[in-house]
Amino acid sequence: MAGRNHLYVPGPTNIPDSILSAMHLPSEDHRSPNFPLLVKPILENLKKIFQTEKGQCFIFPATGTAGWEIAISNTLSPGDKVLAYRFGQFSHLWIDLAKRLGLDVEHVEVPWGQGVPLDLLEARLKADTSHDIKAILICHNETATGVTSDLPGVRKAIDAAGHPALYYVDGVSSIASIDFRMDEWGVDICIAGSQKGFMLPAGLALLCFSQKALAARESAQCRRAFLDIGDHIFHNAGGYFPNTPSIPLLYGLRKALELLLEEGLENVFARHARLGEGVRRAVAAWGLKLCAQAPKWYSNAVSAVVVPEDFDARDVIHIAYHRYNLSLGAGLTELSGKVFRIGHLGDLNELSLSSAIVGTELALLDAGIPLTPGSGIAAAGAYWRETAPAIPAR
Ligand SMILES: *Cc1c(COP(=O)(O)O)cnc(C)c1O
Repeated sequence: MAGRNHLYVPGPTNIPDSILSAMHLPSEDHRSPNFPLLVKPILENLKKIFQTEKGQCFIFPATGTAGWEIAISNTLSPGDKVLAYRFGQFSHLWIDLAKRLGLDVEHVEVPWGQGVPLDLLEARLKADTSHDIKAILICHNETATGVTSDLPGVRKAIDAAGHPALYYVDGVSSIASIDFRMDEWGVDICIAGSQKGFMLPAGLALLCFSQKALAARESAQCRRAFLDIGDHIFHNAGGYFPNTPSIPLLYGLRKALELLLEEGLENVFARHARLGEGVRRAVAAWGLKLCAQAPKWYSNAVSAVVVPEDFDARDVIHIAYHRYNLSLGAGLTELSGKVFRIGHLGDLNELSLSSAIVGTELALLDAGIPLTPGSGIAAAGAYWRETAPAIPAR
């Protein structure tokens, strides 16, 4: 098909040309005396993205899924009780992985379309007077449903209960798109991946550990080898890795961090909020509903859109891809056929995202879903014009 594919799945996201160029390099010696000049600033800048001064960052040649395992295996022991909420495919998969690692997972079913129930969390922690719960697993942005949970609220609930549990966050689809503050919110481990907010190919699991999480490693009995952060602590100190790093991904990450910090994290979050709201205005103008059940859950990184009952969301995705070269995210497991997802995170602006809105609108019409042609892009455009930043004088 002529022209570019319009990639609006919620990861992998679009890669800026400057990152693509930065990754196009000959191989080099990862044990050379110059290599730490690449690695050390990356590890320092990564801390700024997690908004931490006290934490320590790790880069594994892996994906977000491995990040879940790195968090658990380095800090917990088989049989340890952890508390988790299941409200989408990603929170589900983390729970499944924790069970496979031998943890005693207390998982609470929450309707898909809602986030962490803070009142239940606080009550459960208050009831756990013997402090059996060792860690709480929270999916910040549930990519399957387009739901963002209230992380400061989770910290408040833990503190209100005076509970010592470790606080782990899956930030794979939120970090570098939605505000996240490691130190301020008292998070103990945060997990990210390279292919979402970082605008890179998949292949890096990026983590941040608090000092409390690092200390928990001393007594953690889960078996770990390749995923042991101990080897990274030793080698990172000198600016190296315990095994061969993906050098192009490191150069890409260096560039991504440069782009994010140059724009400024606050501006990055504000851009995602404004662009995401434009998509939500379009969805409302089409007369469709989001999977997220209330505005407090709305995700600025991804919108899961529910199709009317007699329609199949897979048809919309199929038409969008084959007729308009537009890739939309599918509904996962329980949501298959019921929703399609528009990813609006990473490298995007009003006009690039407009292609997703227009293409979606055409595919919805072609699938027979009644709506007013042009209504979505008109609503998004009106919102973006109302909220447009000032332009410099001519
Ligand atoms: C994408 C995603 C993952 C899985 O990451 P992989 O890189 O595919 O292993 C985990 N959690 C969330 C919230 C995600 O969006």
